[in-house]
Amino acid sequence: MVEHQIAARGVRDERVLEAMRGVPRHLFVPPGYERAAYDDMPLPIGAGQTISQPYIVALMTAMLEPGPEDRVLEIGAGSGYQAAVLSLLCERVVTVERLPEVAEAARANLARVGATNVEVHVGDGTQGWPALAPYNAILVTAAAPFVPEPLLEQLADNGRFVAPVGGRDLQELVRIRRQGARLVHESAGPVRFVPLIGEHGW
Ligand code: SAH
Repeated sequence: MVEHQIAARGVRDERVLEAMRGVPRHLFVPPGYERAAYDDMPLPIGAGQTISQPYIVALMTAMLEPGPEDRVLEIGAGSGYQAAVLSLLCERVVTVERLPEVAEAARANLARVGATNVEVHVGDGTQGWPALAPYNAILVTAAAPFVPEPLLEQLADNGRFVAPVGGRDLQELVRIRRQGARLVHESAGPVRFVPLIGEHGW
């Protein structure tokens, strides 16, 4: 998976590739999907939600530039897989999930792989998680109609924000870097995510 789907497509950050090798993806998919866990596609995780395609997880992780001392906020815990990958690259991962039953499954999956530096909270992630702000990196793993303002407010100086932003069916993967009062935008091509539902979302 790492060599053929990820490195071959241009994600070359060795720390990211190592983290992707370090998380057993088959432990994050529902029963019956284990054999497809390392295939090049998103998979259903129940409640109409999906675990992203491995390449997209790696790409977004690389765009976040997570450092060993960083505190990272993820919106949309889903299966917990993306959080598990991040947990190997930074000090602490705070992930927020809207659906309580999905959050419960994410907690169980993360416990199973021993990811002790991840905490899963239930709530509307479009509000961020102010209690632990600021964050060195913030990742949204659901499609946002626009960049949720509270998330930019919780981004530390030199922090990186990554999210799919755009329409219901197709979004642009954007990265925003905070440089003091300046916000520097970049874009990394089209992606497709399930909708981000909340006060600053759909
Ligand atoms: N990162 C996940 C995949 C996320 S799928 C993984 O690695 O498996 C998108 C998730 O975002 C879904 O679980 C959905 O319930 C959640 N979501 C949607 N809107 C949200 C919101 N406002 N706050 C938190 N989570 C939200």
